[in-house]
Amino acid sequence: MITYSKQLPVVAEPDVLVCGAGLAGIGAAVAAARGGAKTMVIERNGFAGGFFTANVGSAFDGFVDERTGAPVVGGIVFEMLERMGVIEPGNGRNISYNVNGDFNFVAMHPERVIPRCDPERFKRAADEILAEAGVQVLFHTQVADVISNDGHVESVIASNKSGLIAIEPKILIDCTGDGDAAAWAGAEFEKAESLQPMSLHFRIAYLEPHLDLRKRTAEVLSREFEAGRLGLYAGPYPATFSGRDIYFNATRTPGDNTSPEDWTQAEINGRHDAWTMFEAWKRELPEFEDAYFMTSGPVAGARESRRIIGDYVLNELDVAEGRRKEDVVLIGAWRMDQHPADKPGYHDIPWIPPYDIPYGTLLPVSFDNLLVAGRCHSATSAALSSSRVTATAMGMGQAAGTAAALAISADQPPRDVNVTAIQDAIIAADGILEPPEAGDAEVGNPDW
Ligand SMILES: Cc1cc2nc3c(=O)[nH]c(=O)nc-3n(C[C@H](O)[C@H](O)[C@H](O)COP(=O)(O)OP(=O)(O)OC[C@H]3O[C@@H](n4cnc5c(N)ncnc54)[C@H](O)[C@@H]3O)c2cc1C
Repeated sequence: MITYSKQLPVVAEPDVLVCGAGLAGIGAAVAAARGGAKTMVIERNGFAGGFFTANVGSAFDGFVDERTGAPVVGGIVFEMLERMGVIEPGNGRNISYNVNGDFNFVAMHPERVIPRCDPERFKRAADEILAEAGVQVLFHTQVADVISNDGHVESVIASNKSGLIAIEPKILIDCTGDGDAAAWAGAEFEKAESLQPMSLHFRIAYLEPHLDLRKRTAEVLSREFEAGRLGLYAGPYPATFSGRDIYFNATRTPGDNTSPEDWTQAEINGRHDAWTMFEAWKRELPEFEDAYFMTSGPVAGARESRRIIGDYVLNELDVAEGRRKEDVVLIGAWRMDQHPADKPGYHDIPWIPPYDIPYGTLLPVSFDNLLVAGRCHSATSAALSSSRVTATAMGMGQAAGTAAALAISADQPPRDVNVTAIQDAIIAADGILEPPEAGDAEVGNPDW
């Protein structure tokens, strides 16, 4: 142990500081700035989008009620999808979008697929929406510590190419996915004993997408695993943005990304396994003859780590039964999707009806100027297996940013802001707080 002390420059005193510019962070920063708060976001990567952009690709899960294809999250999610050309602009809830190539879901219900979009388009749309909202963005800046006093955040210590810096916000919104800022401020958190595994996605060029590809690549992986030539793997889940190349969600490394050693291993193991898969497919499948390993990562992604304890902890029954809540600030709709850390291949992803995510899950207990949104919000591990996904994280961010701006303008702690005022502001910004009409219909599992 050493004791280290140093005087640091206070480089900014924003009303609202958002830590992490992932899905939740973009939603939070844009909503806070549009609500009139002087807003800054700091992000350790050189681009926004979190694991959507840092891990080759992803779908906008949680965006629609799969029974009808009607959206359950609007607002900034609509805007991002419009900016990326995935949905037609200005149609509100009557969305029409380009079919995108998620083989599993196209096969299940081709007319209402869950949108995917290229991470490069996402990065650009994020730059634009943040700039237009007037958010001060600082990339390559990592939260290193938080000074708090008696349940009140005073300063955030960050590290970047200037060395160590301090930022003194009135309100802090933790959107780091791992709850780094809240945990280091002293907020209570939980972590499951068995966390969902990490994955490093990879993208293969000169490979024509076809609907049999998933099955054919899966058969090869199963044989490689049985023969002891491949370790744990996921799916595989192939998808395409261009129609001319495929990205694979297929590696699976157990561990905790808040352990630097585990996360390092996920990178090394992920690269090893991705190449092992690619070489096996090239050996065994004629369609891979010209295939070229284009890229991986850049970062192995983590699905689950710290869950900050809030005024309310969303639980699995809330999700499985589609429960309604008075302080709803967002609707979740993605399946219970818990990747196992000890089994290869496909796992069950039971469908659930749309459910309410309450404001209390964004308010860490015992803190008066701290909010959380996205993957680190207050939920049990099972509930988070649904609420952790892309569109839901962005909607949660929008709710947190909206609440923070209202708190700043009323000079109140976020916990004291009238929930009806938050809900009204979300609806006024094209958000959705009523689940779509869909009767008693249910949706089955994909036919893996
Ligand atoms: C491998 C993988 C595949 C997935 N596939 C899908 C999918 O197909 N569909 C889907 O809907 N969802 C998918 N998800 C889930 C989804 O990507 C995440 O749950 C979602 O990104 C959560 O958003 P978030 O903003 O809470 O967190 P993140 O996306 O993790 O964003 C957190 C941001 O904070 C930054 N950050 C972290 N720590 C610090 C720090 N200390 N200082 C500064 N910045 C920091 C990060 O760089 C990042 O930009 C997947 C996740 C993984 C890991």
